[in-house]
Amino acid sequence: MTAVVIDGKQIAQALRAGWKPRADRLNALGIAPGLAVVMVGDNPASQIYVRNKIRACHEIGIRSEEHLLAGDSSLATVLALIDRLNADAAVHGVLVQLPLPPQLAPHAVIERIDPAKDVDGLHTANLGSLLAGHPRFLPCTPAGIMELLKTTGVDLRGKEAVVAGRSNIVGKPVALLLTQAGATVTLCHSQTRDLAHHTLRADVLVCAIGKPHAFGGEMIKHGAVVIDVGINRAPDGRLVGDVDYGAARQRAGWITPVPGGVGPMTIAMLLGNAVLSAERHAAAQGVK
Ligand code: NAD
Repeated sequence: MTAVVIDGKQIAQALRAGWKPRADRLNALGIAPGLAVVMVGDNPASQIYVRNKIRACHEIGIRSEEHLLAGDSSLATVLALIDRLNADAAVHGVLVQLPLPPQLAPHAVIERIDPAKDVDGLHTANLGSLLAGHPRFLPCTPAGIMELLKTTGVDLRGKEAVVAGRSNIVGKPVALLLTQAGATVTLCHSQTRDLAHHTLRADVLVCAIGKPHAFGGEMIKHGAVVIDVGINRAPDGRLVGDVDYGAARQRAGWITPVPGGVGPMTIAMLLGNAVLSAERHAAAQGVK
């Protein structure tokens, strides 16, 4: 069996095309959707991610502003900027690019964002409302993964889903979303014994551990949907996922490539959240 490749680039493009008329409508109403991106330091990977996000905003009519702070900025400096952005009515989304330099605890920074502007969906108020089943903003990567799964047509109800990785950004929220979609979910992590024992049962396998080619073909159930979230730099400079793509493709029913799978979806969902936030703002102002 050779797996069907899930083309995240194309699916993301279609989603973005759907956000654009909504952004256009807001702009016509005089409420330009606005996203503020905060970056601390000059991590080269983060610079690329931020540039891509800003470009994507521009393409669909979201006004973006970039706030670059020095890598040795204090917590007080970062929080003061976030306070300013929270108070700015022209800003509907505030995003802090992770990772942060070591002197800044991500939790302290993210908790300062107004939950109504937390378009990454990482504030505990938003993670809590996701847990309770009435999310305000879905975290972007997990939401993008669910959109990719939708395109396969596989009914998740009653399926065995295995998520490897338990971060707040990917693993834990995607496990929740899969549970809410009716799958029976196993959440694996660095202390899991015999990872392959779990992955081999998975009708849906989400790999998010950040280890190049950690999931070989022999770990994949025949016909499974394999979502590779990992972004790793191979010794030759190429970007590779957590899954051994060539081998897994011979076993899986569907598979996402890296790059071109989950990555573009994360950006698309971010744009969707920014538009949604601006729409809520317009509604609260009574602008129709
Ligand atoms: P993280 O480092 O915060 O968490 C990694 C998780 O993997 C941990 O929960 C750990 O317990 C688990 N883990 C580590 N080794 C393991 C092993 N051998 N077996 C099972 N579990 C193991 O990572 P993260 O922020 O969730 O990111 C994971 C990967 O996804 C990274 O490669 C990251 O670059 C990528 N990522 C991609 C996107 C995207 O848009 N495509 C978004 C976020 C993260």
